[in-house]
Amino acid sequence: MLDIRLHCGPLYVTLFFTYEVTMWSEESFVGGHLALDFLNTVGDTDKSRSANLLTSPEALLDWLAVSGTEGRDAKVTPPLQDDVDALIGFRELTHRVLSASVSNRTPEPDDIQAFEAHIKSALGRAHLDLTVTPPPWIATKVPAHHWIDRFVLLVDGFIRSPEAAKLRQCERCSWFFLNSGRGRGRRWCNMSTCGNRHKVAAHRKRRQVNDKG
Ligand SMILES: [Zn+2]
Repeated sequence: MLDIRLHCGPLYVTLFFTYEVTMWSEESFVGGHLALDFLNTVGDTDKSRSANLLTSPEALLDWLAVSGTEGRDAKVTPPLQDDVDALIGFRELTHRVLSASVSNRTPEPDDIQAFEAHIKSALGRAHLDLTVTPPPWIATKVPAHHWIDRFVLLVDGFIRSPEAAKLRQCERCSWFFLNSGRGRGRRWCNMSTCGNRHKVAAHRKRRQVNDKG
């Protein structure tokens, strides 16, 4: 009995810790495309991109599970911390490239080159799944490249889809989303977070002006 307790104690702590640091919810998946939800795995309420949420292999697996896209690959090729670090590098590179694109700026030449290199490498290792129409590219199963390629191909699929024309960035934070509305349309990644923050800030500003007047 004592043995069981000794073994269960650290296990419980580990699980609790993992849960604490990787709390994804429906609010983490408001981008409208899984590639955008991946780019939105930061928790900042501003444009800083300093609050990374993809902190560990467990966080990545948890994100995949909540997204409903967890594949068998998670069991066959479990991600390592190096994979997660590479994903964060690619996520930030893609974020810079797409941020420039949505604000009609040309991305930095180094970023364009690196972004293209990622896609070419991933495609060079991928194969087409011809059982599906249109056939998607499937990432290599080679462990050293699998995870980065899987997300590079996800992003590549998005930027070449008709959905990419609807890409918008939240006016308050750095998150992306698809704007399906007409006219000016949606301005916030999520009305209940950034939309509300904007309303509160605007209200405060109006009150300050009135107080001064
Ligand atoms: Zn936002």
